[in-house]
Amino acid sequence: MKKELRKAVIAGNWKMNKTPAKTKTLIAELIPLAKDAGCEVVICVPFTSLATAVEAVHGTNIKVGAQNVHFEASGAFTGEISAPMLKEVGAEYVIIGHSERRQYFGETDETVNKRTKAALGAGLIPIVCVGELLWERETDITEEIVSRQIKLAFAGISAADAAKTVIAYEPVWAIGTGVTASNEQAQDACKLIRDRLTSLYGKSVADSMTIQYGGSMNAANAAELLAKEDVDGGLIGGASLKAEDFGVIIKAATEG
Ligand code: PEP
Repeated sequence: MKKELRKAVIAGNWKMNKTPAKTKTLIAELIPLAKDAGCEVVICVPFTSLATAVEAVHGTNIKVGAQNVHFEASGAFTGEISAPMLKEVGAEYVIIGHSERRQYFGETDETVNKRTKAALGAGLIPIVCVGELLWERETDITEEIVSRQIKLAFAGISAADAAKTVIAYEPVWAIGTGVTASNEQAQDACKLIRDRLTSLYGKSVADSMTIQYGGSMNAANAAELLAKEDVDGGLIGGASLKAEDFGVIIKAATEG
């Protein structure tokens, strides 16, 4: 059993939801639900809510993250936000390569790699997202796709840096659809990722790394998913916007 070697991380991806005022309200509801968590609790909020969120969680066990980061530190990149900017505002985590970024904003494995390096360079914890499309699962190439995503995301990243990252296995067909991967599908994919990390970095590094499942995780299915040996937490979209549901997921990770 290696699960106890790893930190369980329950992270909410708020996507493009919540103004700063609404951020404050949701965090106030979350604080009492998260205070006894036996896992890391992270909320990844819109850029415009970062400062508000950092102030609102001050003195609590909730950490704040962003949902994307540019790979350059500064310069003529209109509309972008850099890793040092996120760090200075108080973010500790950043989601990288979410499937919505890949689908709608041209994110590639190469830019995922560059953003991951930039985040690590600034002392942020990257949550690197990988996962197959529906047709890829249906044609039985999930293993090939996820293996390639991992290899390219971590190209040129040292074992010491890799050990600081969190990986989210998010089958694209399960994100925001209400269709959750089965417990076995989640376990198999997280195990596959750990095997690939073992090849890249050795067993002790791979065994120490947190691998989350994401894709319609909710209050009803979290406990079973989180009980799986290689599922070390969750990246949660829709259910992270409902304090009570997110609280149940935190509790499941704490007890699991
Ligand atoms: C996500 O946005 O990463 C996600 C998993 O969303 P949902 O939980 O809504 O499927």
